[in-house]
Amino acid sequence: MTDTQTTRLLIIGPPGAGKGTQAAAIAERYGVPAISTGDIFRANIKGGTELGKRVQEIIERGELVPDSLTNEIVQDRLTQPDAAPGFLLDGYPRTVDQVHALDGMLDGASLDAVVLIEADADAVVARLLKRAEIEGRADDTEEVIRHRQEVYAQQTAPLIELFSDRGILVAVDGLGSVEEVAARIAAGLEAKLAAPVER
Ligand code: AMP
Repeated sequence: MTDTQTTRLLIIGPPGAGKGTQAAAIAERYGVPAISTGDIFRANIKGGTELGKRVQEIIERGELVPDSLTNEIVQDRLTQPDAAPGFLLDGYPRTVDQVHALDGMLDGASLDAVVLIEADADAVVARLLKRAEIEGRADDTEEVIRHRQEVYAQQTAPLIELFSDRGILVAVDGLGSVEEVAARIAAGLEAKLAAPVER
């Protein structure tokens, strides 16, 4: 590894697939920050900022925050010094437009890999209802959870084929313990990053 090497990763999957937990482990392993747009929005809501006020209702309904606003936040975050060696994006991009915006931000550089955590709808709904009891997130009611699954299926699932066509997708079965899934991700990423796509 040279010191100019960067690692640019994404993690995607349906709400409740365990992305946040896995993101922290991957980010630590590769020495890059885990950047979650959902966490950024929630911190702003909690802090009562202008941004928080703009997005609160949208998030509580389980809708997506408009692309232009979300892109701006990510652009700003990626220019911070800790993202110089790379990053792991969690929950962004979520629409085809956001993918194009991210391509623009990277200015010709490519993502190295996209981890997809596969999980079926019933399993993720059950997991989110459990999280609702523990964390009390306003968007974890059953109705909103189901809506977020629909939004994922319509707006985000098409990204899977797009990243697969780019040759950077690492699909992992999300069923099992945190450690089992983490081990699958580590093996999948190691194989993908050892055999970079032709550029
Ligand atoms: P998450 O923590 O990733 O599940 O995100 C929680 C909520 O934040 C989502 O349901 C959306 O309302 C909003 N959000 C997070 N990331 C994005 C994004 N990339 N584009 C639009 N909305 C987002």
